[in-house]
Amino acid sequence: MPSELSIVWIYPDLLSTYGDQGNVLVLEQRARARGIPTRTIHVRSSDPVPQQGDVYLIGGGEDRPQILGAERLRRDGGLHAAIQRGAALLAVCAGYQIMGTVFGGEEGQPVSGVGLLDISSGRGERRAVGELAAEVDPALGLPTLTGFENHMGVTRLGPGVRPLSRTVVGTGNGDGTEGCYAGRIIGTYLHGPALARNPALADLLLSWVTGPLPAIDDGWYQALRDERLRAVLPA
Ligand code: GLN
Repeated sequence: MPSELSIVWIYPDLLSTYGDQGNVLVLEQRARARGIPTRTIHVRSSDPVPQQGDVYLIGGGEDRPQILGAERLRRDGGLHAAIQRGAALLAVCAGYQIMGTVFGGEEGQPVSGVGLLDISSGRGERRAVGELAAEVDPALGLPTLTGFENHMGVTRLGPGVRPLSRTVVGTGNGDGTEGCYAGRIIGTYLHGPALARNPALADLLLSWVTGPLPAIDDGWYQALRDERLRAVLPA
């Protein structure tokens, strides 16, 4: 286990429209509950992305900040270096699309992503907005994901990634799958924030850099999950 876990939140000034700081707080809380001290770095879009972090997070946002964020990340290169070192990354919605090779701008025009995930996104016919529930790839051994989605984009997965899950309720990537993963990168359309509603996903990200984690009392996390799943899943 690392003596201190460093959590890097990328571009909160551009991409944190949907309560994305919640994901940062959940990672901090669940690491500390295992006795691992944390240090969180907020990287504004005018600053370089540090290369020595353990877990990186990038959130959702509107089209223009998304384009700006993609341009800055491409020029910066720090995230690529961190991923090559073995860091973990959770990329949500606009942040998820940015990780691909291309995504759709305000008018649907193609905008280059950073190419860390083998995905490409374009604009769908209509906005996908509402609750989402999805069954996770059995290889990951996680319970059903729950969250909230709000995006125009649809995402095509290439052979270099695996779908994170299959949608039961909601739109996700737009082809019956939701999100994807490759190496230690998870991309998803789930807000919620996703890690507050899916603590097992938080622990998966943490365990990729800390090794196996002891169980902790999940109390209210589980209550929130159960309430949301009951509300959206067919009886
Ligand atoms: N602008 C992107 C879309 O609409 C991402 C939206 C978001 O981050 N919620 O698809």
